[in-house]
Amino acid sequence: MGKIIAIANQKGGVGKTTSAVNLSAGLASMNYSVLVVDTDPQGNATSGVGINKADMDQCIYNVLVEDLPAEKVCVPTQVQNLDIIPATIQLSGAEIELVPTISREIRLKKSLESLKEKYDYIIIDCPPSLGLLTLNALTSADTVLIPVQCEYYALEGLSQLLNTIRLVQKHLNKSLMIEGVLLTMLDARTNLGIQVIEEVKKYFQDKVYQSVIPRNIRLGEAPSHGQPIITYDPKSKGAEVYLELAKEVISNGERVR
Ligand code: ADP
Ligand code: MG
Repeated sequence: MGKIIAIANQKGGVGKTTSAVNLSAGLASMNYSVLVVDTDPQGNATSGVGINKADMDQCIYNVLVEDLPAEKVCVPTQVQNLDIIPATIQLSGAEIELVPTISREIRLKKSLESLKEKYDYIIIDCPPSLGLLTLNALTSADTVLIPVQCEYYALEGLSQLLNTIRLVQKHLNKSLMIEGVLLTMLDARTNLGIQVIEEVKKYFQDKVYQSVIPRNIRLGEAPSHGQPIITYDPKSKGAEVYLELAKEVISNGERVR
């Protein structure tokens, strides 16, 4: 059975999508079959793996709101072993349209059930809010990976996220665990980054990944070429560290089992 990992943080610009795309591609390069589920109406993960949103008639919206079977919307990417359920701007209506529907928080969970057999990893890229789309992701997930940007106020807002995770554990998904905390966009030239790492480690202790994602120009460029970093620039520091992260995710999973 595959493992479902939600990548969540209600702050925008912390590296959720970059991590969803590049962790997924890293796992796929190690011969695991991987599905990315884009649940952000911005659709950045979708375009980040080279899918043209304008060509899509159907997306995760149709699964969540219209009960279309999820396997009908899985599309292959140019990366071997990597598929995606895309998101288009149509999804922006879902947050409101789902409100009056029955079992609105468990719609994604139900639709991904049949796919857990097909994929080793299902990675859900969440939008920058704690609304219904993120709740659906957390309810479906086995674990949640939290990217934290190495900046001043890094921990700000995390208590809200942790609170939401606790509420989901209490009411919707008892077995949800924290997969890990990923430090992103480290600028190694400043002391601030080092201070933030220490602060986050004090708080989350061994939940913090050894792999710390550096600020890396190639990582920022790759999405505009519709490629994960391991195909865009396999020799870059960004590619190297996301591959290390993929190995950590794999070995943590083995430890738990
Ligand atoms: P989120 O999904 O949390 O909003 P993104 O992953 O989209 O965040 O990242 C925000 C912006 O920063 C994007 O333009 C992305 O390309 C860029 N970015 C993300 N991680 C890095 C990094 N490690 N180095 C350089 N640029 C990055
Ligand atoms: Mg994003």
